[in-house]
This record gives sequence, C-alpha cells and structure tokens, in this order.
Amino acid sequence: MTYIKPLLVILFCCPFLFTFSQTNDTFYLLKPDRVFDGEQMHEGWQVLVERNKIIAAGNNVSTPSNAKIIELRGCSLLPGLIEGHSHLFLHPYNETSWDDQVLKESDAERVARAVIHAKATLFAGFTTVRDLGTEGMGYNDVGLKQAIEKGIVPGPRMLCATKAIVATGSYGPKLKNEIDVLKGAAEADGEDDLIKEVRNQIGKGADVVKLYADYRWGVNKEAEPTFTEEELKKAVEVAGSSGRIVAVHATTVEGMRRAVAAGVTTIEHGDNGSPEIFELMKQKGIAYCPTLAATDAIAQYRGWRKGIEEEPESVKQKRESFAAALKAGVTICMGGDVGVFTHGDNAREMEMMVEYGMKPINVLKSATSVNADVFKINQHVGRIKAGLLADILVVNGDPSINIHDIRNTKLVMKDGVIYVQN
Ligand SMILES: [Zn+2]
Repeated sequence: MTYIKPLLVILFCCPFLFTFSQTNDTFYLLKPDRVFDGEQMHEGWQVLVERNKIIAAGNNVSTPSNAKIIELRGCSLLPGLIEGHSHLFLHPYNETSWDDQVLKESDAERVARAVIHAKATLFAGFTTVRDLGTEGMGYNDVGLKQAIEKGIVPGPRMLCATKAIVATGSYGPKLKNEIDVLKGAAEADGEDDLIKEVRNQIGKGADVVKLYADYRWGVNKEAEPTFTEEELKKAVEVAGSSGRIVAVHATTVEGMRRAVAAGVTTIEHGDNGSPEIFELMKQKGIAYCPTLAATDAIAQYRGWRKGIEEEPESVKQKRESFAAALKAGVTICMGGDVGVFTHGDNAREMEMMVEYGMKPINVLKSATSVNADVFKINQHVGRIKAGLLADILVVNGDPSINIHDIRNTKLVMKDGVIYVQN
C-alpha cells in the first residue's frame, strides 16, 4: 500500500482529479487485531470492502484473490466516527471572538476556514458531522456539503442545520440598539412564522432543524427560556412531518423541560440539567448531547488554568449534569460543539466523557452506532456491518481500554477511499 501516499499527494495538488482517488483495487481486506463494530469489540475480525461498501466482517471472511490486503497489526478498526455537534464555520473563540467572526470576517474567509476545518475533521477519523448552525453564514454549509460530495475538497459527510432558529431579540451579535446587525441565526416567532422558517430552511437544504429553547438574555445576562412550549411543539411537528430530526439548544431546566414536552430529538448542552429533567428525557426517549469540551474550552478562554486552579462553577456544574444524565440512563450522543475549540481535535469530547465517568466502550458507541441511530443515518453509517458504507477508522492501540488511542490514527477511509494511511 505504499503507493497510496504519493497518489494522495498528487490528488490533493490536483483537485479536479480528486473524484478519481479510489485506486483500481476493487476489494480491500483490512486485517487489524480487533474490530469495534459499533456495539462491541471483536478480537481477530477482518473487514472486507468492495468499492464504497463493507461487504463482510468477521473471523473468517472469504476473500477474492485480487483483494488488496492491508495488515494492521496492533490496531483497532472502528466505524468512521460521527461528530454530533460541530460548527465548521467557527474557529476557537480565543483566536477571534464569536461576535467578531460573525461581524468582521468576510464570507470568503469563513468559507476558506471551513474548507480547512472539514479536511482536519475527516483526517482525524470523523467521517460524518452533524453541523448545528453556520452562525451568520446562511446556507453555506449546504454549499460546502455539495463541494465535498462532488470531490472538490475532502471532508466528512455533513448533516446541515443551515441558519438555525432563534426567538427575536434573544440572540447576538448585539451592538447599540440603533444598529441592526447580521444575526448568528434566523429569528422567527409565533406558530405561523416558525412554520415558514422551518420549511424555508428545509427547502434550502437543512437535514436537521436546530432551535434555541433558551439563551443568555435574562436581566442579568443569565440564560432564560426563549420559545414557548407551543412554539417548540409546532416547529417539531413541522420538521418531523418532513422526516427531519430536531436539535435544541437548552441549558436551563425550564428550556429543557419545554424541549422535552415538544418531543425534540436531541437536547444540546444541558449545562444546568437536574436529575429530574434527565429522568424525564429517559422516559421520553430524548437523547442528550453534552458538549463537555466546549464548556471546558470556554472556561479556559476566560482565564481558568486547568490542572492548576480549582474548577470554575460552570465546569463543576457540567460534571454534575453529565453524572446525572449517566445515572438516569439517558441516551448520550457524542458531540463537543467543536468550532468553539479546534476542528480535528474532536476527540477531546470523547476523552472528557471518559474523564467524567463514562466507560470508554460506551463512548465509542456514542460516537458511532448511537449517533447514527439518533440522527437516523444508521442505514448508511455508524457500524461495521455488511451493506453499510465503507467509512472506517483504524487506530494504533485499543481505545476501548485507553480512549486516548482514538487519536493514534493509522488509516481513514470514507466511502471506500483511503484519505489517511500512516
Ligand atoms: Zn453549538
């Protein structure tokens, strides 16, 4: 397989050739020490790929004589990872504040950055992302997704939320009242307006509808609910009738309660979630996407010296919420809110999930089969199973024992094409 590397170098220099980066080998037989199939680890399994599909996985895979055999000693093979909460159009806030990214960076700069972010994400083994809002970049996520699908630039499969939807007056950026500035999301209120905006975003290419159930617009800048329960219900009904899932930003108990009552698919952040609210989520089958790494990153941007100083209240609170969610047995997605921190560093969320009390094997499940099931993409990705797309990550070591091994990238394949081979 040594010829793959120079081939890829050539291909990245000549983007128009990119679509043809698949080699002439119709079959690949991948031979790691073990395979995580999305549910459990299997010692001694092999995986056979034909073109862009997995066609067999198990202990004794009958292999065509022309199959290209890739020996992966000391390695674990997993389904390509699924990032549950990304913002490819944002970069870390300690580089540039969120306000300045939205208001001062040109569209061209933000697209250029997103292209780089998409490549970094894929090369880290995250072959799918649920991108939850462009933050002032309109429908450019749909355009980026199309460019990736056409093979113009390398990147993950994308589930797009486009602009996302907020209640009027709640979201930023905010300057003095006399100046109307571009908002980081679309404002819509009342059932009629919300129906129109949800359908508008679907029409522009949204795969998932994202709503903010609360935001920091309280009298003391604390988070308070935004949409009423009825508004959320209507948005969920309209999105759901088109077959789309709904992701809701909520950090307050009341925002979460309204989201649960509305029957959303996932609740993002849940910073102040109580044991009772997680119990309710469990009962209603609503998944939780904790974004631990974003809370951790923001605390550090505000001056917290991790490992030296005591954890600030926001971090302590997040730890408690996550523990309560685990205890209640809520379905937990893997999504870090990456963009707040560096794209390609998505594994940071997985490491923190383990640090905060989740078993490594369950974190691997969250990042593969659980995310695929919750996001309704499990007929294509999320497991190592015959018939699914050949989205595969191979790492040195065993991340079901040591989660940090998830960073030891050995091979990344998406749609049967090898993008990374170390
Ligand atoms: Zn986010």
